[in-house]
Amino acid sequence: MASSFSLRKGMSRILDGIMKYRQTLRPLLLEEFQKVATGPSPEGLLLTCVDSRVVASRITQAVPGQLFIVRNPGNLVPNHNCFRNNVTVGGECAALELACSINKAQVIVVIGHSDCKAMNLLYSIRDDLKSPSKGPLEDWLRVHGRGTIEQFKKLESTTCFERKLIFAGAQHYEDDFEAYIDPYNQFKPSDKFSQVNALEQLKNFLSYPFLKDRLNRNELEVHALWTDISKGEVYMFSFQEKTFVKIDETSYKTLALECI
Ligand SMILES: [Zn+2]
Repeated sequence: MASSFSLRKGMSRILDGIMKYRQTLRPLLLEEFQKVATGPSPEGLLLTCVDSRVVASRITQAVPGQLFIVRNPGNLVPNHNCFRNNVTVGGECAALELACSINKAQVIVVIGHSDCKAMNLLYSIRDDLKSPSKGPLEDWLRVHGRGTIEQFKKLESTTCFERKLIFAGAQHYEDDFEAYIDPYNQFKPSDKFSQVNALEQLKNFLSYPFLKDRLNRNELEVHALWTDISKGEVYMFSFQEKTFVKIDETSYKTLALECI
């Protein structure tokens, strides 16, 4: 089976994967599963893109029971206004309540990534929002990605994307925060757009009454990560450095100081 594993596709490959997991990973994780079988106490929620290349639990080395994971195209956080008066229901809102109100998760992390197909699409239609939408993905992006477009337009109004952006409060008592996007100009414009998008989502957590109280009491923190999927590198937005910083052996200790 091992030699043919990568040749198989679809459900056959999923089935093969489960057999491989039984034989290799399950024995190692069994103790972890038993520990959390009756009383998990997840510590955080990751909100990431549906993209198949973003392996959030792998890059964080999460163990069973540690993290909730919510995924949607473009790792967008709908503003709570969308759910007022029970006109609309949404998985993101319900997941935030489950993780951070019913359970007491201590951290929410938005994870963006390079070559995001959802962000690439929003980037491509950023000057043409009045045209009819071509499908539900465009609808989703148009409704929840407007803030990202507005921020990015400020950035691209400068010749080398060097402008400092101001994002609305995310934590720390609702203070606005500043950000320089890709100051070393390593990434293409659509990836800069994706980084702007990850930061723009943070303000929306404060729109949820059940999150706002906990954020203002410093019981909950929010962060943004961004992963370069072609290199397998993960960046953390540093509120101190005001930019995404690659997480490595040099930066780790300083970045850890920014965590409650
Ligand atoms: Zn994506």
